Amino acid sequence: MNEEQYINELKKCVHCGTCKAYCSTYESDSEESLGARGRLALLFGLNNGQLIPSNTICEKVFSCTLCGACTHQCPLGIDIKEIIYKGRTILRKHDSSRKLLRFISKFFTNHPLISFKFLNLSQHILLPYINKKDVLPFNLTIPERRLKDKLQVVTVPRKIGRVAIFTGCITNFLYPNIGKSLINVLNILGYEVILPSGEVCCGTPLRTLGMEKEAILLAEKNYDLFSKLNVEAVLSLCPTCTLALKSEYPKIIGKGINYSYDISEFLLDKISSRENIKNISNNRAIFHDPCHLKYGLGVINEPREILSKIGIDLIKTKESKCCGFAGTFCFSNKSLSKNMLDTCVNYYDRYKFETLITSCPGCILQLSQKFGNKKVVHLIEVIENIFL
Ligand code: SF4
Ligand code: SF4
Repeated sequence: MNEEQYINELKKCVHCGTCKAYCSTYESDSEESLGARGRLALLFGLNNGQLIPSNTICEKVFSCTLCGACTHQCPLGIDIKEIIYKGRTILRKHDSSRKLLRFISKFFTNHPLISFKFLNLSQHILLPYINKKDVLPFNLTIPERRLKDKLQVVTVPRKIGRVAIFTGCITNFLYPNIGKSLINVLNILGYEVILPSGEVCCGTPLRTLGMEKEAILLAEKNYDLFSKLNVEAVLSLCPTCTLALKSEYPKIIGKGINYSYDISEFLLDKISSRENIKNISNNRAIFHDPCHLKYGLGVINEPREILSKIGIDLIKTKESKCCGFAGTFCFSNKSLSKNMLDTCVNYYDRYKFETLITSCPGCILQLSQKFGNKKVVHLIEVIENIFL
């Protein structure tokens, strides 16, 4: 979004408040400036000089989860999420609270392997201390091996197609098991799977911190790598990565991978209804909608249809709640993130479920903290369990 578009979009707002009704941070703390309308009003005031940048304004603008729930609700079609991204880029130089987070995020993004090795080696020394001191918003466990070391082509004897996996940082470094599940399921269905080397972070974490230029460099690298592969689809287990490749790259670099899909979109017509399925339907399960899957990609029914096909009778929940993870948000807005997690957990607890199924490794990381006695699993693990 260029300067002129940004100003025009801000001017369009008639302060009706429709967006506020869908805003999870406003739901958590009913303060006008913690809602969509309030954040836009602050950015408008900054733009016309009525306000000057301050820590307070930065906190309000950087407290949005960028979930996108508000965007499609605005009767004037204002792209609230893009305005907030732009506002953060403008405010970045005034935002001292997130300086360290920016430095660490940039370091991790530019040196993922060194960072992984360091965390892996310090697993039994530094991490227990960090976990005990509550430095991180969640307890971190680093697996022995990441999913991808180098280019991998996992082929099958009777190949019916070829797909690539955009691994994503959380899957690659924290949950390689779900990546393996995806490869297994795709192989069983007859797909050759490519995990190219050279993939970098999708760029969303840096963009959320107002680091648009740095995010653009990452987007260009990923676009160059994935657009050259001869595949019918680029799949990711993380809806934030899929949303970036498909819908956000066109906004920041003018081109995207329009054949990138959430796994449920790709697998829906490839998984047939099964009669002799393993009996796991007695297990009371609910599906948690990740925000970027629901509001960003518009994928709501596909995971539920797949689960129904494979014999999982989901408990129907009335609404979905943001878990409060939201990438860098949970580090820089710890108390708000915790409130949102509590609201989400209390809401689901009414349904007396045993397994929570979702489609995002970030949601798994966040929700696992509170559902210690219940299973929190990725959709692909459930599918794999049925297949194998
Ligand atoms: S993107 Fe989400 S958190 Fe941010 S203003 Fe919109 S609804 Fe609220
Ligand atoms: S819904 Fe649209 S017009 Fe109404 S307050 Fe929100 S951004 Fe402004």
